[in-house]
Amino acid sequence: MESKNKKTPKFWINPNTRLHFPQFSLEWQQCDKCDLLAFCEMEHPRCITYVVGTTCVHLVHSEDYSRLYVLYHKDQCFENLRLQKWLRENIRYIITKRASIALPNRMHELEAIHQLYAKDVTVKKMRKGILGQCTHDNQIRLSPIIVIFPPALMDETILHEMAHLKHHHHRKSFWDYLSVLLGCDARENKLLHDVAISKYWELYTFLMK
Ligand SMILES: [Zn+2]
Repeated sequence: MESKNKKTPKFWINPNTRLHFPQFSLEWQQCDKCDLLAFCEMEHPRCITYVVGTTCVHLVHSEDYSRLYVLYHKDQCFENLRLQKWLRENIRYIITKRASIALPNRMHELEAIHQLYAKDVTVKKMRKGILGQCTHDNQIRLSPIIVIFPPALMDETILHEMAHLKHHHHRKSFWDYLSVLLGCDARENKLLHDVAISKYWELYTFLMK
């Protein structure tokens, strides 16, 4: 019994799973069997398919990876561990792809707005819970997970790392400077955002770990 419980995922990915952000969104689309099978034969270049018995589930992403469509039959059972693993790995892959485009783009916009430039930016998964880093030679690293944060929180996370370009520490001068960039009290803002994100944190880390 115990080993069975261990295998049960913390979250089931199914049509109730909602991920809707300006930078990335997961769209569930119910289709009839004929359409699903027709899609198999089309060999769509941005589609991957999971075959279950006589039916299938398709994942189709937009060219810029900002939208991921799940095409499924109304009778599709999602409580299947192999299907869950497939969904999770592929959703994670597309989110990571999206992050590698969207996060540097957003950072370059913020650099131009604040006339504050990093030497380089990379999008890379870091140790658990680390959302960003600024090295001593001013290279910024961002975790792909922040692309599925609400926009204000995504910006705050990027600006936090950008503030380290001037202050490589977390002393008062850093927080004062970040407050100027954000246009509000940075410490207070962080506290509010930490609370806002905490209820989604488990799902986020489940998807992105
Ligand atoms: Zn910091």
